[in-house]
Amino acid sequence: MSSKTRNEECVKVAMRCRPISKQEQLDNRQEIVKIDPERGEIIVNNPKGEGSESKNVFTFDVVINQKSTQEHVYKMTALPIVESVLEGYNGTIFAYGQTGTGKTHTMEGNNESPDNRGIIPRTFEHIYRVIEGTPSKQFLVRASFLELYNEEIRDLLSKNAKNKLQLHENPDSGVYVKDLSSFIIQNPNEMKEKLAHGRENRKVGATKMNEGSSRSHSLFMITVEMSEIRDGQQHIKVGKLNLVDLAGSERQSKTQATGERFKEAININQSLATLGNVISALVDSKPYIPYRDSKLTRLLQDSLGGNTKTVMIANIGPADYNYDETISTLRYANRAKSI
Ligand code: ADP
Ligand code: MG
Repeated sequence: MSSKTRNEECVKVAMRCRPISKQEQLDNRQEIVKIDPERGEIIVNNPKGEGSESKNVFTFDVVINQKSTQEHVYKMTALPIVESVLEGYNGTIFAYGQTGTGKTHTMEGNNESPDNRGIIPRTFEHIYRVIEGTPSKQFLVRASFLELYNEEIRDLLSKNAKNKLQLHENPDSGVYVKDLSSFIIQNPNEMKEKLAHGRENRKVGATKMNEGSSRSHSLFMITVEMSEIRDGQQHIKVGKLNLVDLAGSERQSKTQATGERFKEAININQSLATLGNVISALVDSKPYIPYRDSKLTRLLQDSLGGNTKTVMIANIGPADYNYDETISTLRYANRAKSI
């Protein structure tokens, strides 16, 4: 098998379009996104233009339309990664996109109904279901939750959430966050409590675009240690899963940022650009992968590439006024596919 084929299997790109919102309907917004899940195709009409730029067609490994359920999204994106984490591999799931397109809905979901549970709670349930169904093995599950804000790392599960943590590297364990708290978790409910606790701590900045839009990346890390006695010997495997809700990808001119906001915007652009470069270098089997160009990619280095699985979920909105951002998100996601 060529390394190219291997990498194609390791990085998957999914695109999800949220439904038009009540407000957008009230504002008489036009829907410009059409999706053909069978062909994996998405067509975006340019509301301004004619000619060659009037219709944009993209294809992705997985294409999820406005009507898809959270359960379907889980099956198409996270499920295979969680299975491989439970076999001792590392995996990473990213939600990318402009603020308001459904990243947090995709990753966490909401509490309005159980059907709205996102990838993170479904992952917990999946992991403990497998643990209960595998009495021959012993499992130890640990969780950490951090945010990356302005290239600074904050522990979302510590009492001192304000403390900035440092990235360290050692030859045995690779890159790690020094002093990051890590909790042994026994069941999905305990995990959900950690998620809720961290969410409260998460730094949220208001921008002109969307009050409460998130300017930080959040990373929920689950480590699963498995041990088994075979032929009188103990065999231990460790799998790590990173669940990443990325900062909004919108360009900063739209948000009219100044001062601290401006610095945030520069850092966000930089880390998202580096992530794009890392993923596209991986899928194209480039000899040099620029992990070191941002904290986000350094932090995830041992879970991106090599023997790991990654899925990037690009989130978009269906309405005309988001055209430019939608195209920019689809182009970003397109770079993550192999050519
Ligand atoms: P982001 O995290 O990208 O800023 P959110 O996840 O907060 O976006 O979503 C913005 C709004 O749209 C929320 O009110 C959310 O409930 C709603 N929403 C997003 N995706 C969907 C979807 N697939 N179905 C229904 N509502 C959605
Ligand atoms: Mg969000």
